[in-house]
Amino acid sequence: MPLTPRQARLASELISDPAYVSGERRFKTPITRDDAVDLAGSMHEQMDAAAEARATAAKGLGKPLACGPGCSGCCEELVMIFRPEALRIARWLKLRDNAAARQRFLEVYPDWKQRVGDTPTQIADLFGSGDEAAHEAALEAHWRRRIMCAFNQDGMCTIYPVRPLLCRNAHALETSANCYGDNPTQLVRLRLKSDELDAFVGNARSCLRAAHHAIGGPRMRPAALCDAVAELL
Ligand code: SF4
Repeated sequence: MPLTPRQARLASELISDPAYVSGERRFKTPITRDDAVDLAGSMHEQMDAAAEARATAAKGLGKPLACGPGCSGCCEELVMIFRPEALRIARWLKLRDNAAARQRFLEVYPDWKQRVGDTPTQIADLFGSGDEAAHEAALEAHWRRRIMCAFNQDGMCTIYPVRPLLCRNAHALETSANCYGDNPTQLVRLRLKSDELDAFVGNARSCLRAAHHAIGGPRMRPAALCDAVAELL
């Protein structure tokens, strides 16, 4: 879904001022929920193209990506998102063709919610506090609890076409054995460094955060993927 000229202009304006990204300043241009969903879709498409190039590069280096169907260690990380991605996923789940995925999610969500407790709230608080180290530590502590994302069914992502940017960027080289949070060696999980791709991901995340603020989302406050989508269904 290529961006229209207006959407492309919006995307570049949204990241033109750090105060839009942080929510300190109100975005100057009216932006609709449809715009936000389209921006998320475009970021996802661009991310897929970049990830494909990364997979090819990894293969060329003799260190192919270990990720594949049924491999879901990274699905035990707590995925925190902003509203544009939550809206895109909720809209997709409301399509008649995706009724089974929606129903399955609504069935398993209460158990997921009960298991995660108030961790998403604590992590959202830490994100806004600017305490990077504490935020990272809380995410890692959650990961070690090994609570599977409520959108994962038998190792497969039930919202694969609309999964968040973070999920599209997750990858491991050669083996996924170190991708599980209770693996003592998980911190040495190998990723392929790419300045270009890392810069794209940084910009895409900034754009989605600024769009979140522009459509009235709470300032510097992401939500856990499952919570954010459940609230919209
Ligand atoms: S949305 Fe899909 S890919 Fe992302 S954590 Fe959940 S199951 Fe895994």
